[in-house]
This record gives sequence, C-alpha cells and structure tokens, in this order.
Amino acid sequence: MSLAHGRQYLAIPGPSVIPDSVLQAMHRPSPNIYEGDLVDMVAGMIPDLRYVAQTTANAAIYIANGHGAWEAALSNVAAEGDAVLVPATGRFGHGWADMAQGLGIETQVIDFGRQSPIDPARVSEALAADRDHRIKAVLATHVDTATSVRNDIAAVRRAIDATGHPALLMVDCIASLACDEFRMDDWGADVMVAGSQKGLMVPPGLSFVFFNERAAARRAEMPRVSRYWDWIPRANPEFFYQNFGGTAPTHHLFGLRQALDMIRAEGLEAIWERHARLAQSIWAAADVWGAEGPLTLNISDPALRSHAVTALRLGAPLGKQLREWTAREAGVTLGLGLGMSEPDDPAGTGFFRFGHMGHVNAHMILGLLGVVEAGLHALDIPHGRGGVAAAAEVIGAARAVTPAVADGIPAA
Ligand SMILES: *Cc1c(COP(=O)(O)O)cnc(C)c1O
Repeated sequence: MSLAHGRQYLAIPGPSVIPDSVLQAMHRPSPNIYEGDLVDMVAGMIPDLRYVAQTTANAAIYIANGHGAWEAALSNVAAEGDAVLVPATGRFGHGWADMAQGLGIETQVIDFGRQSPIDPARVSEALAADRDHRIKAVLATHVDTATSVRNDIAAVRRAIDATGHPALLMVDCIASLACDEFRMDDWGADVMVAGSQKGLMVPPGLSFVFFNERAAARRAEMPRVSRYWDWIPRANPEFFYQNFGGTAPTHHLFGLRQALDMIRAEGLEAIWERHARLAQSIWAAADVWGAEGPLTLNISDPALRSHAVTALRLGAPLGKQLREWTAREAGVTLGLGLGMSEPDDPAGTGFFRFGHMGHVNAHMILGLLGVVEAGLHALDIPHGRGGVAAAAEVIGAARAVTPAVADGIPAA
C-alpha cells in the first residue's frame, strides 16, 4: 500500500504549482499570430509585468528559461573582453558567472559560500580596484535558490554608488519575483531577469529582461549584439513578431495573462505577505524538528531567508531518503540539494529543499509539513515532536494581522 494516490504535489523550487485556471487558459486552439486578440493581449501585459517588477523600465520577453534570460541580459551589456563582477551566494550566482564566461566576458567572482549573503563592502572594494572601469556590471542574485539566502539588493546598489563606479546592477529575480518583496526602481536595479515557472505560476519557457535607461545607454555602446538576444526590437517592436524574435509563444502567453490577472486581483503586497507567513510557518516547524535531531535550516538568520524556497540539511544520506519517502508514500516531491556537496557527501544527499513559491496556500504548506513530519517518523530520524503544530500556530495567528475577507464573511 502507498498513500501517494491522489493529487501529486511538486514542492520543488520551480517549476512551481500551475493553477488550474492557468492550465485552462492554455487549453485552446492556436490563435492568429498576425492580428486580433493575441496581439492586443501582449501589449496589455507589459504594464502588468512592470507592476510585478515595480518598475517603469523597458520589458523584453524571451522564449527561453532562466538560463536564456541570463544570456539575453549579458548579451546586451557586456562584450568579449569586458568584465563583470559576480558576488555569488550559491549555485545560481556561479551559474550566471559561468554563462558570462561562455560569452568571452571576464568574470570576477566573489564567493560568499553557501550560508552567507552578499557583503556589500566587498563589492565596493572590488569596484574601487577596477580603475579602468572594465567591469560593466555587477550580477547579483536576489534569492539564490540553491542556498535559499536572500540578498539585500538596495545595499548592493549603495555599495556601487559609494565608489562612483559606473557598473550596472543586474539582478536575478527568477526565484523571488512575485514571492519576495522586490522593487526594481526603488532599489536601483538597472537590469532584472525573471522566468515564468516560479512565482509567475506559468510553465517553464518564458523569461523576462527588464532594463532601464542606464542599461539602454550601455546597450547603445555595444559593438554588436546577436539578433536573437537583442532587447531593442523586443522592447520596442515595430511588428508584432519582433516581440518574440519570431513566432509568439502563444499558449504560454494565454497562461501568463491569467497568472497576471490573479496577481493583480490578490495584490503584490498581499502576495509578499502570504509568502512571508507561509515561510515563517515552515521555519517554525523546522525549529521544532531540529531541536532534537540533525535537521537544520541552511540559513540561520531568518532575516536572510527567502520566502519562496527553503534549503534544509539532514546529513547524508537522509535528505535523499526523506525525498524518496515523501514521493513514494505521500505524493509529495521535495527539491534536492543543488551545489551542496560536502567532502563526505559528494552528491549532496544530506540536503533537500522546499519550493513554496507562487500558487501555494496554508493547507498546501501544512500538508507538506505534515508529510515531512511523517517521513521523519517513518525513517526513524530523530526530531522534536510538534513541528506541524508550531506551523499551524503561525498560520493561525495570521488572521489577527491580516483581517482577510473570505467567502464574503467579514473578519471579526
Ligand atoms: C530557477 C533559477 C534559475 C534558472 O532558471 P532555468 O529556468 O532553470 O534556466 C536561475 N536563477 C535562479 C535564482 C533560479 O531560481
């Protein structure tokens, strides 16, 4: 017997749970790609994408995953022989650096390890040492999905400005957009990249590059930019096909339209607060479990933790065993440890992750935590009792803070 029969829950940090209404919006015949509804719909989506990014900047859409957005953004601002500075706080920071290297861009990495945020002072130091201004951009990851650390982007901006260095600030918000508070304009990001399959609740395949006028000016200095990645025709199309450098990703766009409607209806601040509260409930459970056993949250300071993804350590090979148990016995798939190998655990089997981004609510998170608690019990992994109860308390207390109106019943 297995208790996995029933609706499966993919609780990994992307692709995230796709709302039924997004799937339904995609289930339709091919539309005309030259005129009509689709063309009007795309023009109307740009203001909503800007709202989600909290920006008035330009927006370019790519038919690509997050890696594509990394390459797209870099291709517009740094040429072979230029340099970029990458303060890395996990696997994804290193991934963006690697993408730059592949483009022939000199990559200066400051490695902050797997449990620490960016130290803005070190960014200042590196820029101050770059007297010829060969560094064209600082590539910062808002939330590194591997470590689940959340970086202070406004502080990185201040660190750049303090040196008077002209480098652009480019931010990877692929894991955090529409989950963790992010304000592109207020925080001074010049370029921001995002993908469809995390907080935006759409299948993988669309990505977004937002860029402001400073970044556009840098683009104008580039000796050449590959046609496909060039953000100019995408952001200012003369013909509809230029939005996408070819045929529009028709069905993804219908899905995205529906997801943006959902985001507008809930409101960005309410979305940030929902993610924050659900994350706090996860931390509360983990604190109880870890009090009498090997489980630890990878990021110890709650102020530095993502609200969209949580990396946890149990020690090898227990992380892997727990993942296998929850998938096999309970229909819940947890994320694996990424870039978290240790000397005695080269495959990183001691780690696992929860994705809690996008279309997730209290009952899903309590279900996730209940399944994990059952798994700890089934596998005889020592843990403190009452993790789920602690999470329920956090969620129960939410009502006092947010007097939500549910089903037309006003909160007391
Ligand atoms: C998921 C993710 C990526 C990579 O996106 P893909 O769609 O897998 O290419 C990059 N950066 C961050 C922070 C991510 O979470």
